[in-house]
Amino acid sequence: MVVIGAGFAGASVAAALTRAGVASGLILERELLPGSHASGRNAAMARQLEADPVLRKLAIEGVQRLRAKTVAGSPVLRQSGGLYLTHGEPHPAAEWCAQLHEQCVPAELLSAVKARQRFPFLNRFEFDYALFCPTDGIVDIHALLSDLLAEARRAGFEIITDCACESLIVDGSVVRGVRTPRGEVSARIVVDAAGAWAGCVGRESAPLPLKRLRRHLFVCGDAGLFPRDAPLVWDLDVGYYVRPEGEGLLLCPCDETEHPPDIPEVDPEAEDLLVDKLLKYAPGLANITLRRSWACLRTFAPDRLPIIGWDPDIDGLFHVSGLGGFGVTTSLAIGDVASTLFCGGVVDWIEVSSFSAGRGALRSVPQCNN
Ligand SMILES: Cc1cc2nc3c(=O)[nH]c(=O)nc-3n(C[C@H](O)[C@H](O)[C@H](O)COP(=O)(O)OP(=O)(O)OC[C@H]3O[C@@H](n4cnc5c(N)ncnc54)[C@H](O)[C@@H]3O)c2cc1C
Repeated sequence: MVVIGAGFAGASVAAALTRAGVASGLILERELLPGSHASGRNAAMARQLEADPVLRKLAIEGVQRLRAKTVAGSPVLRQSGGLYLTHGEPHPAAEWCAQLHEQCVPAELLSAVKARQRFPFLNRFEFDYALFCPTDGIVDIHALLSDLLAEARRAGFEIITDCACESLIVDGSVVRGVRTPRGEVSARIVVDAAGAWAGCVGRESAPLPLKRLRRHLFVCGDAGLFPRDAPLVWDLDVGYYVRPEGEGLLLCPCDETEHPPDIPEVDPEAEDLLVDKLLKYAPGLANITLRRSWACLRTFAPDRLPIIGWDPDIDGLFHVSGLGGFGVTTSLAIGDVASTLFCGGVVDWIEVSSFSAGRGALRSVPQCNN
């Protein structure tokens, strides 16, 4: 078996497969270091509040698994909590609160006054309601990714970095292996976990219709604006988030611009967008000094659900892609779903047909710009 990509998709699937008894395989990673793209350049937040019920279930299960996971004795999830700000009427947030309760996730809807009493740093923000989700938090993404890859390696997977899969070797419609710059590798099964590049290899004539959306993150070093263990803050109506990062903050304007698969350049307009939103909705952060920024791609299927399962046309090709903006949160749950489907088992806790590579939502106009 060959897994293409050593990000959270490839690593979590390989690790889960070893737990299911699949004891050998090859993980091919084009870059020198695993996690060079989205898996190492994200905001590291674990958030259970998702509008889509299937995705919400996946996120809740993902967070449960993250909560139970330690690496070298330390928890990978720091449960700082999440505060989701809204403007105007309370009902959308009240409904989300009820949806989380239905799935036994603690959540509390607070008026702005109550929220500021409890979390005084919220004085820096303009909002009407805050939905507090205490079991959300921040993931040690580097520890988690390294641990998943180490788990796969210990069980017999080999990880080869600086080695791209150039194309799939397909006989008729059956996978026979992959081509790399170092030669051909025979394999009866190939897992496409190539992140922004997923859905292209092997499906050149009908690539999966994935969209890659660029998003920017910023870091400010100004100390003392938030307590270091403060919850992440996400304004769902305006679209921006802020969380503690070291002494300072990590901030995002929630920008979305289509981009071909690559490491995107930083666009100065993203900083303008962030500053504009902060001036209007977080005036208490208007004077911060942004020190560092980067951009990276989130990869989405048209319905914004992940793609997990066998290819409908190519025998032996398995997909784990379209992890959008939830690939950290859901990584461990996705690994379990993928390995169960891979091994022919039944997943009874979530509607897996929603993730099928043959679902209707994926039969739209293909795009593959690499
Ligand atoms: C700015 C930003 C913020 C985010 N914040 C969060 C967050 O707070 N919480 C959350 O849950 N999620 C977040 N995400 C989403 C999360 O980072 C992704 O969903 C997740 O990392 C995707 O993992 P992946 O393995 O699919 O992709 P990647 O991490 O991109 O991994 C794919 C790997 O495949 C390799 N590859 C590609 N093609 C080939 C080939 N042909 N041969 C060999 N190797 C190949 C690539 O080099 C890459 O290393 C964020 C994403 C971004 C961009």
